Amino acid sequence: MTEDQRRSRKRKRGRSHKIKKTAVASPDGGAATKSLPVSASSNKSSSKSSFLDKMRARLSGGHFRMINEKLYTCTGDEALDYFKEDPALFNVYHAGYQEQMSHWPEQPNDIIIKWIKGHIPSLVVADFGCGDARLARSVKNKVFSIDLVSNDPSVIACDMSNTPLETSSIDVAVFCLSLMGINFPNYLKEAHRVLKPHGWLLIAEVKSRFDPTTGGADPNKFVKAICELGFTCQSKDFSNKMFLLFYFKKKEKLNARKLIEWPELKPCLYKRR
Ligand code: SAH
Repeated sequence: MTEDQRRSRKRKRGRSHKIKKTAVASPDGGAATKSLPVSASSNKSSSKSSFLDKMRARLSGGHFRMINEKLYTCTGDEALDYFKEDPALFNVYHAGYQEQMSHWPEQPNDIIIKWIKGHIPSLVVADFGCGDARLARSVKNKVFSIDLVSNDPSVIACDMSNTPLETSSIDVAVFCLSLMGINFPNYLKEAHRVLKPHGWLLIAEVKSRFDPTTGGADPNKFVKAICELGFTCQSKDFSNKMFLLFYFKKKEKLNARKLIEWPELKPCLYKRR
């Protein structure tokens, strides 16, 4: 073989690397085999997959918002039945929830974790509506993680208005964005039952639920109702753009029983992104 022939063979081999056989749909719907330069075919397939990814994200976003709305407009035991029927919905919910949270500049869970780390580790914590139980994984304390579905043996699956926790056994009860059910006062009554006297009740809730100018509750009425349940308000932090924080302590003695006027907490409906 001459030097020229060798060079020409090499050029052809090089060109054939840049050509790829690929199946594309022909205009009549049948599959045809065409040769496309790699750059064109990969552009096409990557734009197709990014389109599919967008559609999938849109569908799961819509599914998340539907489950979210359901949880904010039913009672805790209805929510428990809802997830019992189809536990996979819980994962759809939490994938959407994490996506929403990723847009928040600060996570209320982190502030609560920091608060717990700033206290003695012997405090026993109950995380009501724990989600993925990140709180329990982040602190040294004994934590009872409670949610409607348990994907982890350490999580107690139940409606949090009726937990298996012992009366007066808990030092810190946490509700981080979890007062979802329309019967949320029952969750707080359950927290009151399981807390020791002087035990802490920490609540983080979405700010818009407490904006009276847009149909939200008056935060002072919320605090008053919780105090009537048998707590004293230690502090409030309204400095965050996305959520409010409330810190209560359980009173030593029970209040004389009277009918508590609970404000309604409107659902937190997340934006389409
Ligand atoms: N606290 C977690 C998760 C918040 S999402 C965090 O901050 O990341 C709210 C959680 O509350 C969801 O996992 C939901 O399943 C749970 N939840 C709502 N109502 C509940 C109920 N009645 N009993 C138990 N968990 C409940």
